[in-house]
This record gives sequence, C-alpha cells and structure tokens, in this order.
Amino acid sequence: MPPSKPRPWVPEHVLVTAAAAEQPHTAEVLRRVEAAGVDDVRLLTGNRLTGLTEGSERWVYARAKKTLALVVAPPSAIKPQPIPPSADWRIDLAKGCPAHCQYCYLAGSLTGPPVTRAYANLDDVLAGIGTHAGRGAVTSGTAERDHEGTTYELSCYTDPLGIEHLTGSLAEAVRRVGTGVYGDEVSLRFTTKFDAVDELVALPHGRRTRMRVSVNAEEVAGRFEGGTSPVAARIDALRRVASAGYRVGLTIAPVMPVEGWREQYAALLDAVGTALADVPDLDLTTEVITHRFTPGSREVLLGWYPRTRLEMDESVRTAKRNKFGGTKYVYPRETMAEMRGWFTDALAARLPGAPLLYWT
Ligand code: SF4
Repeated sequence: MPPSKPRPWVPEHVLVTAAAAEQPHTAEVLRRVEAAGVDDVRLLTGNRLTGLTEGSERWVYARAKKTLALVVAPPSAIKPQPIPPSADWRIDLAKGCPAHCQYCYLAGSLTGPPVTRAYANLDDVLAGIGTHAGRGAVTSGTAERDHEGTTYELSCYTDPLGIEHLTGSLAEAVRRVGTGVYGDEVSLRFTTKFDAVDELVALPHGRRTRMRVSVNAEEVAGRFEGGTSPVAARIDALRRVASAGYRVGLTIAPVMPVEGWREQYAALLDAVGTALADVPDLDLTTEVITHRFTPGSREVLLGWYPRTRLEMDESVRTAKRNKFGGTKYVYPRETMAEMRGWFTDALAARLPGAPLLYWT
C-alpha cells in the first residue's frame, strides 16, 4: 500500500517586511503562498516583526507555528559558518520550522517565538556558495569526502523541504548548483522529515545535491514528531529522488534506546533497503545522532510541550562540557557504546555500501 499523503503546511498568517517586499525572490514566494490558499498576507511598513510575544506561552507558541515571515537575512546570517561533522559550511534559506517535534533541536539554537522566517534575499544567501567554494575542512581536501567538493548544509536551522511549497528557495538553490552557477566543485546537502519531492525530481540537479531523510524508530517518530510526514512517506520520497539521480542519505536521529529499539531500528533499516533496492547508481550515506539536550533546550521544550513524555532527565544522563563552557546531556557511556556497536553492525549488514559518515 502506498504511504498516505500528508497535507503540506499552510500558514494562517504570512508577514512580509518592508525590506523583504523589495527583493526579487519575494514575488515567487507570494505566488506560492497564494496558490497554497493563505488568506492573511500582510505587508509590513517596517522590518520588525512585532506583537509575536504577547499572550500566554501556549498562545505565543501556537501563533508562531502558524506564521511564516518573509524577512531579509542580516549579513551575520548570510556568512557561511563551519558546520562539522556534516559539511564544510552552513547556508540558511530560513530559520524555523512549522512542525512540532518534541525534541526539536532548534529549541536550543533559536530564540524567541518559533516563527518560521524565510529569507527573501536569496541571491545574497546563495552567494556564499560561490565565495566559499574550495574552502573548508570537513569534505574539501579530505581523503574520504573530497569527491563531494565543498559542501553546504541547508538544514541547520530549518527543514527546507517542509516549507519549500511556499518559498521555492530550495529548488532555486538545487537548480543553480546543479547547473554550475557556483562552479563544478560544490554540492548541497539537506535533511528533511517531509516528503513533497514532486518539484525536486524534475530539477536539473546535476547530482550535486544530497537529500537525506531524517528517520527514526516507529515509536519515536509516532510519539514525538508532530506535523511531519510519516516515516514511510519520507522513505518513499527518498526512493523517488534517488531514482531521479540525486545522491541520498539517512539521518537516523535522534536515536533513543526505547523499549525494543534494536528491533525497531532494524525494521527501519530493512524498509529503507527494500525501498532503494532497485535504484540504479545509488549513492547512499548514513549519519547517526543520539538524543541529547542542554539545560536551555530542555527548558524551552518543556515550555512548548509541557506534557511531553520525552525523557530529559539529567540524573540518568552523562553531562558533557564543550569548550565554551556549555553542557549537554547525552546517554551514559555504556548505552552509547552498545548503540554504536549495534548500529555499526546493523548498517553494514542491512545497508551494505552505504558509508556511515559519523556517529555522535
Ligand atoms: S522537523 Fe526538524 S526542525 Fe522541524 S520541528 Fe521537527 S526537529 Fe524541529
């Protein structure tokens, strides 16, 4: 049976700042927003988004998750930043995501109401691909991954496919990189929990974009990933883009040692193997990220999802400090070692030929 078709996100409110209104890409966004059936589109007279923090925490959260803002990315957001271990550089097409994952990693990195802010100055955002080509330490010049060229990760602060039907920014990036606008030695990467790939499969991608799907054990995805596409639909989307020649990948994240985790993750890997079995010239990679949280992300997530059943208990975790003095809570060493061993073996056995890029 084909996976059920989830409905793409339709924001209730779209805000366009005055500066964003002047950008050439804005007409395309507004065309898509209108096609999606959004009634409330407001052109602001200034560049600040105001009134978003008024009301109860629940209300502020709910309204923010129904709002798409079209803004101009400031210079600080445009400069590509190093993003190990995924890619050489990070490029942000947007900040924020309309989904409701109860462990959302954005909770620790973005501040304020979780409005999805799409960047209207797309030419400026993508220009960083050209200025940074040939530089970088994760793939550029490395023995293992130099064949990927200089790599740009698009999904650090958003799920680019989740809002693509409204922005068109991802398609434009894929098209430009695929047709060599920024040279022949660059490639894009993004990961997603969505499945709307109709537009992507028809693009001249030049095999220079790697789409990964973020997948998880049935229990984790079913319980904690509100507003996303079902895992089966994501895997089907991966099959479709791989069949259209894209390089693809799995982001297995955040891995949690839930009851029966071995069986659940084994079923997941088997489903992927079956879906991709007949894809010609398959280029599949894997990345595995275990669940972690920080004191800050925990506080934000408990504010957004006060009744969550997500385990964020410092007393059963191991604290790890980073060089900036921050603390993150990961699983204890024995649990990590057990999961790492299992995944290394299971990936080699069930998805042979798909290198594990990193485990963290
Ligand atoms: S899809 Fe990703 S960015 Fe969006 S809410 Fe879920 S974890 Fe956060």
